[in-house]
Amino acid sequence: MMYYNWKQTTNTDELKIVCNLIKNGEIVIFPTETVYGIGANAYDEKAIGKIFMAKGRPSDNPVIVHISDKKTISEIAREVTEVEQKLIDAFMPGPFTLILNKTDKIPDIVSGGLPTVAVRMPDNVIARGIITFSGVPIAAPSANISGRPSGTAVEDIRQELEGKVSAIVDGGETQIGLESTVVRVIEEVPHILRPGKITPEEIRDVAGCVKFSNGIFEPVSENEKVESPGVKHKHYAPKTPAELIYSKVDGTLIFELNRMVKYYKGDVVILGFEEHKNNIVVSKHRFISLGSKNNLEEVAKNLYSALRKADELGGQIILIEGVEKRGLGIAIMNRLLRSCGYRYHEF
Ligand code: AMP
Ligand code: MG
Repeated sequence: MMYYNWKQTTNTDELKIVCNLIKNGEIVIFPTETVYGIGANAYDEKAIGKIFMAKGRPSDNPVIVHISDKKTISEIAREVTEVEQKLIDAFMPGPFTLILNKTDKIPDIVSGGLPTVAVRMPDNVIARGIITFSGVPIAAPSANISGRPSGTAVEDIRQELEGKVSAIVDGGETQIGLESTVVRVIEEVPHILRPGKITPEEIRDVAGCVKFSNGIFEPVSENEKVESPGVKHKHYAPKTPAELIYSKVDGTLIFELNRMVKYYKGDVVILGFEEHKNNIVVSKHRFISLGSKNNLEEVAKNLYSALRKADELGGQIILIEGVEKRGLGIAIMNRLLRSCGYRYHEF
């Protein structure tokens, strides 16, 4: 396995090697602005099979196809409607994925047997370079063992994926830290299948309306119909049990957290806001800061690394401070609720 450090600049000789690996049906870890991905040639069934193997990903969970040029959309998708085109114009490139009807060029393994394909155009120099010089769209799910928190830094995922891929491209910490907003337009209405950096408000501004699909803030049952197979699978979960706690009132939140710390006799990890560091009575090394509660961008960026760190510390339980379900807070709460298996208390 090759490791390439492109934290400062992309090395063009190494870029050629990485793109040749993709062309030859190998799988490669690379950064995007959202999280790290494990990518392969989207047209190569065998190569995509290797991704599913490496991740232990259920075969009914389709993967997103990454492009570097909007012209590629007509190659992989058909019947793009007016509303869909507006969304493409507004949010691509960026942390936005659109579900479109697929063409025959996209193998069933990519779409999990669905007649649709998820399309994203990343806005990250390294990702764009790899797609462009590979000359093919790149199918890439998040770089993590299936069910675990996504990887936002190579140090976090190296151990779990090393040896399972042909190369790792290190571009440093990812900028956003949460996966893309996934949208499907149904009867001209954009439905958010997975919230992300692009907020419902932004989508409404472009399309005039927006809806949430089921499974954003509550679990879906086995036989319930969902637009996105991913919402049924366990995800973003640390190995230690976790619980999410929220109150609009800071004092109440701190009081409840301290009560729980006492109940567990301090054998907990707190994932909390920088501002609360000195208010929660727990040993210093058992408090992991998510960043400032007034800077949700920072919280999003830190989230997965913090979850992984908390898991390493272990203890009886990880107690996580929640945020208001508004703007970027929607995506943050969606990921945290799923990490906790929906164990949530609001005071
Ligand atoms: P990940 O690869 O970990 O970023 O997850 C990709 C997400 O996009 C999962 O939740 C998938 O279920 C969803 N997705 C991918 N392709 C489709 C599709 N064709 N239809 C609906 N959801 C999809
Ligand atoms: Mg994932």
